[in-house]
Amino acid sequence: MTDLAVSSPSLALLPDLRADFPFFQVHPDLTFLDSAASTQKPQAVIDALTDFYTGEYANIHRGAYRLSALATDRFERVREQSARFFGAPAAEGVIFTRNATESINLVAQTWGRAHLGAGDVILVTELEHHANLVPWQLLAHSCGARVVAARLGEGGTVDLEDYAAKLRSLPVRLVAAGHVSNVLGTVNPVRHMTELAHEHGAAVLLDGAQAAPHLQVNVQELGADFYVLSSHKMLGPGGVGLLIARPERLRGLPPYQGGGGMIDEVTVDGSTYAPLPGRYEAGTPAIAEVIGFGAALDYLGGVGPERVAEHEQALLRLALSELEGMPGLTLYGAGLATLERGETERCGVLPFNVRGAHPHDVAGFLDEEGVCVRAGHHCAQPLMRALGAPGAGGLAGTVRASFYLYNTPDDVHTLVRALRGVSEFFG
Ligand code: PLP
Repeated sequence: MTDLAVSSPSLALLPDLRADFPFFQVHPDLTFLDSAASTQKPQAVIDALTDFYTGEYANIHRGAYRLSALATDRFERVREQSARFFGAPAAEGVIFTRNATESINLVAQTWGRAHLGAGDVILVTELEHHANLVPWQLLAHSCGARVVAARLGEGGTVDLEDYAAKLRSLPVRLVAAGHVSNVLGTVNPVRHMTELAHEHGAAVLLDGAQAAPHLQVNVQELGADFYVLSSHKMLGPGGVGLLIARPERLRGLPPYQGGGGMIDEVTVDGSTYAPLPGRYEAGTPAIAEVIGFGAALDYLGGVGPERVAEHEQALLRLALSELEGMPGLTLYGAGLATLERGETERCGVLPFNVRGAHPHDVAGFLDEEGVCVRAGHHCAQPLMRALGAPGAGGLAGTVRASFYLYNTPDDVHTLVRALRGVSEFFG
């Protein structure tokens, strides 16, 4: 472990976990700083997939043979495990989807269609990923509702005054807000936001795609009616998302998609539908991948979500302490001083620009140095507009480095060294 040159002695680093991730043995020369897009997978997750596909595979819920019953049992156990891991109100409210995006669309097309009408407002924030914006626009267009965004505040979280004012003055039926920004890493005060929304009679969906991998999340404590996340962003396989809902919010609503698995009785003239959660899981799910997600939760649980958060915090602060003040570099989001004063919380996401260079060129330059980062608008165009200088039409995009539990202080130093080279080249 390397000592940190930052002033928070309480922030401890994890031991180097890269031996658990085959990717880092295959690519010892890469510095992988793109986990906010998708994470690498530990051997335990790869083994869970391989073992299941090798000798345990069978479709679930319908088979009359032991292997199918075993597969069903393992699949359903991941539902219960997820409910415990994320503090879900009840396991029947844990719905397996394809990803966070599908979870949001599911809520929009079921609860949304049933509860929103002409003139109603869906309140989002300027920080949203398009996944938590476009589904609400589609719903609004179909039922005459409106999408309104609470402004970005000073510290890179939602402007709480503007949020509260909009709740007071508009007929808000639903708040749909990101828990953690995928661009700035800032943690919105979602518990408070949820309380305020409920006081005004609005339901709350929290987009936890960037929070669940990095923080200890307890949906009941947050008070959310709906919470969504993606497995692939938290060490698990792709093709699996979770919708965690208060069961009473979904019970009795029409289904999202029709097909096998979600029915009770079917005649040619019509059908009745299964209770939760099967009602919202039409067709064959990603069985092996759900089981792999269970292995990812085991792994994360073994490390400890608080320790993961602390590790990322230490890396973020190290990066900020090295990069703040670097000539030609613009950093976005809460700075070190703000974090040290405890005014805002921020996960390990670091967006920046280099003067005179397009973000894609910077990312290409870093790639030459073996540093994997993302560049562009990060599916958050409204936030890019809000981050630009007033009247200047917003940012073309940013470069984004993001840290996870397998990153080390050496990765930060490599990024810093490479960025010095970029600044000199473009400066
Ligand atoms: N919400 C946020 C904040 C995200 O960062 C992302 C993905 O980057 C999503 C939603 C969508 O996740 P997925 O593509 O896994 O559905």
